[in-house]
Amino acid sequence: MKSRAPVLIVGSMAFDDLELPSGNFKDTLGGSATYAAFAASTFTEVRVVAIVGDDFPEATIKSLAARGVRTEGIERAKGKTFRWAGRYDADLASRTTLDTQLNVFADFAPKIPAESASSPIVLLGNIHPALQADVLNQVGRPQIIIADTMNFWIKGEREKLVSLLNRVDVLIINDEEARDLSGIHNIRKAALEIRKMGPHSLIIKRGEHGAMLFDDTGIFAVPGFPLEDVVDPTGAGDSFAGGFVGALAQHVTGEGGTAAGREALSKHARTAMIYGSATASRCVEGVGTAKVELLDTASVEARVLQIRALFELTPA
Ligand code: AMP
Repeated sequence: MKSRAPVLIVGSMAFDDLELPSGNFKDTLGGSATYAAFAASTFTEVRVVAIVGDDFPEATIKSLAARGVRTEGIERAKGKTFRWAGRYDADLASRTTLDTQLNVFADFAPKIPAESASSPIVLLGNIHPALQADVLNQVGRPQIIIADTMNFWIKGEREKLVSLLNRVDVLIINDEEARDLSGIHNIRKAALEIRKMGPHSLIIKRGEHGAMLFDDTGIFAVPGFPLEDVVDPTGAGDSFAGGFVGALAQHVTGEGGTAAGREALSKHARTAMIYGSATASRCVEGVGTAKVELLDTASVEARVLQIRALFELTPA
């Protein structure tokens, strides 16, 4: 691991109200960019573009900066920060969105700082697909473009999302979203259909069951690590994306354009999937960003070994 390309991450920064079996947690730090940035900064330089309100703590921005995250792309606007509220079922396997308040996000027009615009890898966190497209219009052609999305946009902004997919190298969604996007129940057929919409590689997350990668090398599956205590699954998807992109960044030099990006994906996406799964499993061990904020390579590497051991035929 040597080259460590910087990664531009665009997404939401949020306050979340979480109803968990273990209790209710109000005003928890959340947001797709927040989780992904904390996660990816374990491995490489991250540049964040997001918007927060005047109620957002400066201390959080400082804690990102303390991990080497470039925060000049975080715009502070007058008004309230984006808010999301969710309730989890007793088994933590499914959740219901109770409330989404866009607040300052409603008028967000991402402005990519000049230095960040040349980032070789771009992770478009889960935000409105029109905003994701707006970001791509400002960055030329990075070597690898990765996008996350959610049902909210698949159902509400399908046309804009589908046109974005043509410009994306890796799409990360969960199984339910893959079914909604393709209209096909069988996951393998759904993946084939979605890849026809544009993404060279497709990652389908399956919650505690792990994730699958569909690309030109075939199909790869990584298990989720079976934890004894899952505390809060919020941000697992964004942490997966952050861990995946951070691990991939080790193999991207910034040279060689999209051909080198594709080569890095072919050679290293499977390993990066294991890092994504390891990072996500660390995230869900605490409430909100509590664990992912403090993540270090040693704890991710330890979890990577535990995950690899799950399918090691000769036990150590
Ligand atoms: P995950 O559990 O990985 O799906 O991510 C949860 C995070 O996504 C929470 O911290 C929310 O603040 C954020 N989030 C939820 N809905 C949206 C949305 N519509 N747009 C942007 N971020 C969102």
